[in-house]
Amino acid sequence: MTFKLAIIGRPNVGKSTLFNRLAGRRMAIVDDTPGVTRDRRSHPARLQDLRFEVIDTAGLESAAAPTLEGRMRAQTELAIDEADIAVFMIDARAGIMPDDSTFANLLRRKGKPVILVANKIDVNAAAAGVLDAWELGLGEPVAVSAEHGLGMSDLRDAIVAGLGEEVALAEDPEPVALPGEEIAVGEDIDPDAEQVPYDSGKPLRIAVVGRPNVGKSTLINALIGQDRMLTGPEAGITRDSISVDWLWRERKIKLFDTAGMRRKARVQEKLEKLSVADGLRAIRFAEVVIVVFDATMPFEKQDLQIADLVMREGRAPVLAFNKWDLIEDRQETLAELREKTERLLPQVRGLQAVPISGETGRGLDKLMEAVERTHRTWNSRVSTARLNRWLEAATAQHPPPAVAGRRLKVKYITQIKARPPGFVVSCSRPDAMPQSYVRYLVNGLRETFGLFGVPIRIALRTSE
Ligand code: GDP
Ligand code: GDP
Repeated sequence: MTFKLAIIGRPNVGKSTLFNRLAGRRMAIVDDTPGVTRDRRSHPARLQDLRFEVIDTAGLESAAAPTLEGRMRAQTELAIDEADIAVFMIDARAGIMPDDSTFANLLRRKGKPVILVANKIDVNAAAAGVLDAWELGLGEPVAVSAEHGLGMSDLRDAIVAGLGEEVALAEDPEPVALPGEEIAVGEDIDPDAEQVPYDSGKPLRIAVVGRPNVGKSTLINALIGQDRMLTGPEAGITRDSISVDWLWRERKIKLFDTAGMRRKARVQEKLEKLSVADGLRAIRFAEVVIVVFDATMPFEKQDLQIADLVMREGRAPVLAFNKWDLIEDRQETLAELREKTERLLPQVRGLQAVPISGETGRGLDKLMEAVERTHRTWNSRVSTARLNRWLEAATAQHPPPAVAGRRLKVKYITQIKARPPGFVVSCSRPDAMPQSYVRYLVNGLRETFGLFGVPIRIALRTSE
């Protein structure tokens, strides 16, 4: 069964961006001069296993009406009359505006199924906006990033909830290539898939950090191949950011070459060490950061500080215990190092720690496997439905404490971002929630959804 879906909302919330994503069009509708009649008002669209028509409300905006409110009303009414279901979009970054409430009222009066969508959740500040959206009285907001394709599984589930399971029975089980389509969103044909499809087409960005002499340069050379000349500064890139591209098992990798930076700096300015700012830049550039330790002298103060910085910056960390060729009782040492890792770096549980030797090349495949595994976890997304099923069980098993005679209530959880996973929990008294209870929730999230070895962000918001 096909159906028609209209995307409604005030200007700039991201309607065209979602439209283009669903319709598989690359270009924004930018050339719509008012008065230009469009020959087509709806476009074939798809979202995972759903096939439908998306109504181009941008074309309707030119409907003659003198005021913005009038135009919005005309646009909304036309689109919604034509549609089977409306996606009402707000900008979670900007929060709820008076125009949003006007739309919400119109939509409520129309009596058609409405999905409230809070867009731009890739922006950190969006968490509050997602929760504010509740006040529009249109039910649970679906948190998405139209630009980055986040939350598409939740949007798909909301459409099916609004129109019934039969819409999910796509007439054509084969993926249909739409004109100009770019593989972008939710191509996980499995509708139960919880995660945004893992994009292995883009280069994975890695930085190698560590205190002096742990073996960073040796490791980098071993990874990219000794004789390989550095590709050197790429076009337009200055001397303080050098990256090397290489392939590992067909996977494109972009390595931020701090060692190359230093070599270059040595020649040019006789600098011995990278400045703190350079290290920080490397960390921010990267998705995964390999923190190199010298296995013969691990966990010095500076090692712990660097690892801590990587986690605070929200990167995906992988610990490499280098110079493993010098270690004699390997099993014993490894057990000891792993125990110490949990104890001295308790910020993130389940950190990946891999013994390697940059000099002999041993362990490098295992290291890269850990890099890829951690990168996947770092990109994870869990659907709101699954999260709240878990939250219900977790709070039943171990209820939040009472403060001043009143039990704190934890009501709702949603993942508002990935890279690293970030969650918003709405509760009755965020200020009174003890850290120990937040830790209980974080541990539960890790265990239940396999989010080991990556930083997790949790923000508490008041539910009123
Ligand atoms: P419309 O006027 O509602 O059609 O909004 P557009 O689709 O033209 O988007 C307005 C602006 O918001 C553009 O600059 C988009 O790039 C931006 N935008 C859209 N979706 C997102 C998103 O998910 N995240 C962020 N950060 N920006 C977005
Ligand atoms: P960086 O300052 O972290 O870039 O460290 P380097 O790569 O310059 O290495 C510092 C020293 O450790 C050099 O003398 C290397 O030969 C030595 N080294 C590096 N990796 C290994 C290794 O896996 N095993 C051993 N035995 N020595 C290593």
